[in-house]
Amino acid sequence: MADQLAPVAALRQLIARSSRIVGFTGAGISTESGIADFRSPGGVWSRHEPVYYQDFLSDPAERRRYWQIRRESIPGFLAARPNAGHLALARLERMGHLLGVVTQNIDELHQRAGSRRVLEIHGTAMKVRCLDCDKRYRCEEVHARLEAGDAEPRCAGCGGILKSMTVSFGEPLPSDVWMQSAQLARQCDVFLALGSSLVVQPAASLPETALRGGARLVIVNRDPTPLDSAADLVIHAPIGETMQAVMREMGVVLPADS
Ligand code: ZN
Repeated sequence: MADQLAPVAALRQLIARSSRIVGFTGAGISTESGIADFRSPGGVWSRHEPVYYQDFLSDPAERRRYWQIRRESIPGFLAARPNAGHLALARLERMGHLLGVVTQNIDELHQRAGSRRVLEIHGTAMKVRCLDCDKRYRCEEVHARLEAGDAEPRCAGCGGILKSMTVSFGEPLPSDVWMQSAQLARQCDVFLALGSSLVVQPAASLPETALRGGARLVIVNRDPTPLDSAADLVIHAPIGETMQAVMREMGVVLPADS
């Protein structure tokens, strides 16, 4: 049984035997790449009142506040690099063990690590969209305009309202991404939760969906989570270190954090 093995060996065994793993990632995997957890002390939402979606749409002052907060957080996203946790998931997908990654993160580090199927349930901060004509911009471009003093950047094509492609407070999750995520949770036989506190709903319902479908639940997180007692394997340790060790036991040497 898994719980009689050392945690890394137990995780290696679960992974090696599966071709239907779903990776589920939260803030903890990104903090290991140097991105501050928005909800932690010192994070963006401890220093600013949230900007709610309806206020963003109706109030230019709220849009300026939104962009001021973005201006603080974008450099951290741009400076971050995928770590061994991201690289391990990308490698496991290529090796045929992993169906895909569902992430609560908005930093595109999974894609940069090489993951192909990534479902971003809270969207991405790395792209900006015109709410009127749907024209897309890279966040670097909008950030340069913020830095140049444009307090409320508008669409260069139509003058419409721009917004990061993240899901804001008060904004519904993208239903297609959510449905695909729930489907993956039903299809998997191992649900590998990395760096998620498993408290932010509705994302935290995905491991429960997986459990109901008979999947094994593995939790790697610095702190305890409400689902630890339901999990088959719980590892309270850094994600990069843990996944690097697991991959090494599988005979895979990951490149140094890129
Ligand atoms: Zn436009």
